[in-house]
Amino acid sequence: MGFDLALEKYGFKEHREFDPGLITIDPMVRAMCKQNACGQYGKNHMCPPAVKDIDAWKRDIDSFKNALIVTKVYTVESSFDWKSMFKGIADFQKTLIRLKKDIVAKFPDKKILLLGAGACMICEKCTYRDGEPCRLPHKAVPSLEACGIDVMRLSRQVGVKYHNGKNTVTYLGVVLHN
Ligand code: SF4
Repeated sequence: MGFDLALEKYGFKEHREFDPGLITIDPMVRAMCKQNACGQYGKNHMCPPAVKDIDAWKRDIDSFKNALIVTKVYTVESSFDWKSMFKGIADFQKTLIRLKKDIVAKFPDKKILLLGAGACMICEKCTYRDGEPCRLPHKAVPSLEACGIDVMRLSRQVGVKYHNGKNTVTYLGVVLHN
């Protein structure tokens, strides 16, 4: 069952309901996190090793019967334009948080799990670095990769575009719901 929400207002490029059984959890994705290409490994409550292990994520994900995937596209100057990429991630996370707030307001009885893109950027400096608890655990969104989900594979399986043209990046989010 989908959401009766005007999803266009969030600026998504694509949105689609899909069978959450299509989601596969791959230990290799978490292994890639450990290589720390993004520089966030061990620095954020929503990234490994702080997040749950992939078996626990699989149990959580398997408990949902419905899933909505959303994508948003951002312009960058080049594939090294990290500033624009991080700005895009921050905007995408804000969009997902707004979406979740609207879903909860309209469907207060629904069980929801929101998965997004990149390390949580709500706070200027994540408290994980200081050994402190997360400031906003009900707002913070773990990334699909942190759960061991191969985002490119998921986009192919679900039928949404991961590449949307030269000098763009596409971020994907998933709302699991019952
Ligand atoms: S809300 Fe703040 S403390 Fe919590 S994961 Fe995000 S950045 Fe870290």
